Amino acid sequence: MAIHAARPAPKSAAETKPLTIGVLALQGDYDAHARAFKTSGAQTVLVRKAEELAALDGLVMPGGESTTMLKSLEKDRFFEALEEFVSTKPVFGTCAGCILLAREVKNPVQRSLGVLDATVERNAYGRQIDSTILTLPTCVPGGPLEMVFIRSPRITRVGEEVEVLARRDGFPTLVRQGQLLACTFHPEMTADTRVQSLFLDMVRANKDR
Ligand code: GLN
Repeated sequence: MAIHAARPAPKSAAETKPLTIGVLALQGDYDAHARAFKTSGAQTVLVRKAEELAALDGLVMPGGESTTMLKSLEKDRFFEALEEFVSTKPVFGTCAGCILLAREVKNPVQRSLGVLDATVERNAYGRQIDSTILTLPTCVPGGPLEMVFIRSPRITRVGEEVEVLARRDGFPTLVRQGQLLACTFHPEMTADTRVQSLFLDMVRANKDR
C-alpha cells in the first residue's frame, strides 16, 4: 500500500484573509503601530472616528498622552462606541492605551473604559528623562523581550482573571484578560513583533469563533 504524505487541511477563507487591525490615531505613536502590524501580516486602518470601528477585527490603542486621547474620545460619542467595541472585539492597549482600558486609574484619577481588571498608576516611573529600555523575561515564547518604557504607567493591582505575561520589578508589564491585551511599554518601538503576533492570534481566535 502506498504511503501518502499527510497534506495540511485546506485553509478556510477566514484563515487566509488578512485581519483588519485598527490603530486609534487621535494622538501618540499610531504610525509605528500600524507599521509593526503590517510587518506582522495584518491590514491596518488608522481610526479617527467612531464609525470606523465597525470594519475592524481588532483595535490597538497606542501610547501617548491618555488625557489628550480622552478629550478627543469624549466628542461625538466616540467613547461610548469604544465601550461597545471592547465588549465584542479584541483590544490591545499600550501605555496610554493600557491606562484607557484599566478599571482604576490613579495619579490622578481619570475616566477609563474600565474593562481590564487592574489598577494603573500614571507616570509611576518618574519623568520623561527616566524613560528606559530593559530586556526582561516573559511567558511569550522566544525568550526575554526588549521593552521600551516612556513615562510609563505601573500596573499596581490585577484581578484574578488577569494573566501576567511579563513583569518589571515585580509589577506586571504585559497582561492578558480574555480579549484584552495590555502593556506598559512600547512594543512598536522594537523590531521584535512577538507581542503583535500574540494579539493577532487573539484576534484570529475571536474571528473564527
Ligand atoms: N504618561 C502617559 C499617560 O499618562 C503614558 C505614557 C505613554 O503612553 N508612553 O497617559
